[in-house]
Amino acid sequence: MWPERDDHPVVLVTLDGLGDRPCRALGGATPAEVAQTPVLNALAGQGAGGVHVPFGPGWATSSERSHWAMFGLENVVFPGRAALELLGVGGHPPRSTPMWHLAIRRGRRSNRADNAMMITGRLGHDQIDVSAVAEMVLADYCASARIDDIGFEIVPLRVGEWVLIAHGATSHEISDTDPLFENRHPWMCPVPVREAVDAGGQRGFEARRMAAAMQRFLLGAHEALQRSGIEYDVPTTKWASWIDHDVSFAHEVGVDGALVTSSALYRGLARHLAMREIDVPTPEGDLAGGLAARVAGALAVLDGNERADFVHVHTKAPDEAGHTKDPEAKIAAIEACDAALAVLVDRLDRDEFVLAVTGDHATPSETRLLHSGDPTPFVVAGPDVRVDDVGEFGETSLLAGSLGRLRAGDIAPLLHGFARRPFFIGHRPGPAITGALPAAPLAMPASSSAFPSVPPPTYEESHA
Ligand SMILES: [Zn+2]
Repeated sequence: MWPERDDHPVVLVTLDGLGDRPCRALGGATPAEVAQTPVLNALAGQGAGGVHVPFGPGWATSSERSHWAMFGLENVVFPGRAALELLGVGGHPPRSTPMWHLAIRRGRRSNRADNAMMITGRLGHDQIDVSAVAEMVLADYCASARIDDIGFEIVPLRVGEWVLIAHGATSHEISDTDPLFENRHPWMCPVPVREAVDAGGQRGFEARRMAAAMQRFLLGAHEALQRSGIEYDVPTTKWASWIDHDVSFAHEVGVDGALVTSSALYRGLARHLAMREIDVPTPEGDLAGGLAARVAGALAVLDGNERADFVHVHTKAPDEAGHTKDPEAKIAAIEACDAALAVLVDRLDRDEFVLAVTGDHATPSETRLLHSGDPTPFVVAGPDVRVDDVGEFGETSLLAGSLGRLRAGDIAPLLHGFARRPFFIGHRPGPAITGALPAAPLAMPASSSAFPSVPPPTYEESHA
């Protein structure tokens, strides 16, 4: 028998878009500072705190990129959100084939000389009829459009959104056409990305070829949608994706992971990373986004026979409230999340797990910013966590916390370190430097009859 393990599971709770900047309507405080959060205050009081600036001060980020880094995957190639969403709705992203998220948006011609299209709206969730007509038009157009030997296919994601697959293309290295920032940018022209152009050769050529084909495809789709007379007619692309091999959380991070998911993106993350997936759908109109039910799902993993060393729980509620640009709505969302976390924080005195709560980025609830690089509260408690002086949850109080400023990529090593399985620099138990000490390195078979576990290199590999 192995000696008994003395390490602990880690539970990471992400309150999406938790951080904020000082709000005028709140007298210069943030929603997390104004919200009544007795549970999160208790967590801060029992543990250590700091602020999370995912990619360093100032950088705004999407949720998928900060989660990827928080999970300990910063050095693993990110597959692209379109592929993750496709996985999340039960689809199968084809290997070594570029994909994008495709949406139809409402647009109008700008009155400037540049002849640009301004994007003014997106399809509402109730506009299923418009979406169905657009889907027929786009599918017909895809069936007939073959551009520079590239064939296009759409797979539905949700109302007004699809995944666009470019069969026969070999580069996803082009820019977005979707103006994430509608008040700043028009419908944008796809261009090959700098890294591909600088690399030159086949890579640069294929990126140029794809950018030109995408431009022709989108202009043709735009005209087809216009001919069909539907009001929403500007097709936009973003989240370029590419998957060419299997990735496993257990291999890349070193331990088994479980994700308590509620949306396609996080289901897709779990499936792409071969993590255990516990799906707890969000009840309609629930302010905390079903967080209490998801916390119960996480506790079931901790209490079950099949242990996972890393359990992630997510709620979109604070981010969605932040996007309404009503600081009071965000305060209400944070307070509802606080209540939902009580059952987890109450269990801390049993010394069974390490618990961390943070956000994946800041979502300013004033100004027109989508997300920002403002500091987001971070608190962690567990058997080995040194308790600091901060007992109040909020950006300003936690700026004085003992953990200081953490980047997204610091979080997995920090939490696995507290959980008594830090990766040991200077030791090489497997192919990769992982966020945690690997739980299951490849064992040498005790007798040669079981060989070989590692195939010898091929002639091409040894002469590369
Ligand atoms: Zn957001």
